[in-house]
This record gives sequence, structure tokens and C-alpha cells, in this order.
Amino acid sequence: MLKGKAAVVTGSTSGIGLGVARALASVGADIMLNGFGEPQETESLRASFAEEFGVGVAYSAADMSRPEQARGLIEHATKELGRVDVLVNNAGVQFTAAVEEFPVEKWDQVIAINLSAAFHTIAAALPQMRTRNWGRIINVASTHGLVASTHKAAYVAAKHGLIGLTKVVALEAATSRITCNAICPGWVLTPMVQKQIDELAARDRLDPDKAREKLLAGKQPSLQFATADQIGMLAVYLASEAAAEMRGAGLPVDGGWLAQ
Ligand code: NAD
Repeated sequence: MLKGKAAVVTGSTSGIGLGVARALASVGADIMLNGFGEPQETESLRASFAEEFGVGVAYSAADMSRPEQARGLIEHATKELGRVDVLVNNAGVQFTAAVEEFPVEKWDQVIAINLSAAFHTIAAALPQMRTRNWGRIINVASTHGLVASTHKAAYVAAKHGLIGLTKVVALEAATSRITCNAICPGWVLTPMVQKQIDELAARDRLDPDKAREKLLAGKQPSLQFATADQIGMLAVYLASEAAAEMRGAGLPVDGGWLAQ
């Protein structure tokens, strides 16, 4: 389905980004992987993708907290893969604290990676998408792009901002074959969420299973985690021709979190 197309997935060495990159590769897209990891781990990830899916695969360690590196990622991908047709802005970090105790450097970091990086990659990728009159921009936001929780000021602000950015880009591209949409996952069991489960277990003196159950029961009526593969298949759909007229949407995959 995406044979001959190239996709950049930021933050794809782990969790949801890895699931999205796998799903796009499974339908034939060449892939630019990005994210942190030891050199031998990222090289073996790159090589295993190329072998399993038979697509072109490159890797960049670009730091999405740095504007010039976010823009440089698009240039690097274009050089390595020849083009960028699908851009998935997924890299993200979390930090929790009450607003009045939120460290300024943590605020800046969360906004830079979860919001500003998407502005930079989109600005860098749009011109070539316009030249070919085809593109798919998929921003991995969150339920926290649509509703709030306590102690997540920077994350909620960044994800609400990302939903806003998604709508603006969708409108600016509305008369072209370039679309921009957001995916809004609820809880997905990744290293980012495991850290929050560990914090809950320590705070409430719970064993790991009970802490997981408590985390889910607080927000997600299904009491099940969504999976990176499910998010990946939604990204494949958004990249398909079937989604050509989906523009500026924020799509929850959240076990009913937002239905309440
Ligand atoms: P994760 O911690 O498993 O993966 C994060 C990825 O981003 C990793 O590959 C990491 O190396 C990369 N990354 C972090 N900082 C980076 C930087 N400065 N530059 C480049 N790469 C960087 O987290 P995840 O849960 O898979 O989260 C992925 C995205 O999904 C994030 O945007 C997150 O906010 C969003 N999300 C996650 C959940 C969830 O429940 N896990 C829910 C909603 C939204």
C-alpha cells in the first residue's frame, strides 16, 4: 500500500513510535527511525526492520528538543530515503508535578519535544509534500490533548497545542492531497507509562499488578491498555487513500476514557 513512499517516525526506538514504524513498514513504506538508544541497539533495530519488512530503513539520533535537529531530521531522511511522504510526530516525554512546583527546565523540555518539534518537522517536510501534492502528517497527541489531569501541566498544554497545530496544518493543506490528523491514545503500556505505574506503586505501597489496575481504573473504562500495534494500524489507515478526506481530526484510541 505504501510501497515507494517514505515515512519518518520520531521517537521510534520504543513504545508507540516503534509500533507505528513497524505497521508502516509492514505495508511497504521505507522508514527513517529516530530516538534514543545505544548505537549497537539502534543498528540492530535498523537491520532487523530491513530484513523483516524488506524496505529501506535509516536511523537518525536527532534530538527533538533541538529545533535545528528536528528540521535536520527531515533533510537527513530525504537524503537517505529520497523523499518524505509520511511524517509521524511521536517523540514525547512526561513529567509530573503540581504547577507551582513544576521545574522551569522540565516545562521547557516537555513543550520542546512534545509540541515545538512537530512544528519544526512539519515546516521542513511540507514544501516537498506540496511539490508532489501528496503527504500524510500524523501527530501522536493523547487523550491529554482533549482533556486534562492534575500534575501534568506541561504535557497537557503541549498535547492541547499539538491538536491545535494539527487543525491549522490541516486547514492550510485543505485544498491539496496532504492531510494532517492526530491520534489520541489513552493508556498504552510503554516505558513512559511503566514509570508512572512504578511511581503509583511506590506512593500507595501497591504491588505492580494492583498499581496497573489502579492506573487503568482511574481513567480507562475498558480496564485494558491500548496497544502500540493498534495505534500503528490507525496510522496505516490515516496514511491510506481511504483517509484522504480526514483532515484535522483528533482520534481517540482510549478504552472509553473520553466517553465518560
Ligand atoms: P516511550 O518512552 O516508550 O518512547 C518515547 C520515544 O521517544 C523513544 O523512542 C525515545 O527515545 C524518544 N525520545 C524521547 N525524547 C526524545 C528526543 N528528545 N528526541 C528524539 N527522540 C526522543 O513513550 P511512548 O509511551 O511510546 O510515547 C510515545 C508518544 O505517545 C509520546 O508522544 C506520548 O506522549 C504519546 N502517548 C503515550 C501514551 C501512553 O500511554 N504510553 C498515551 C498517550 C500518548
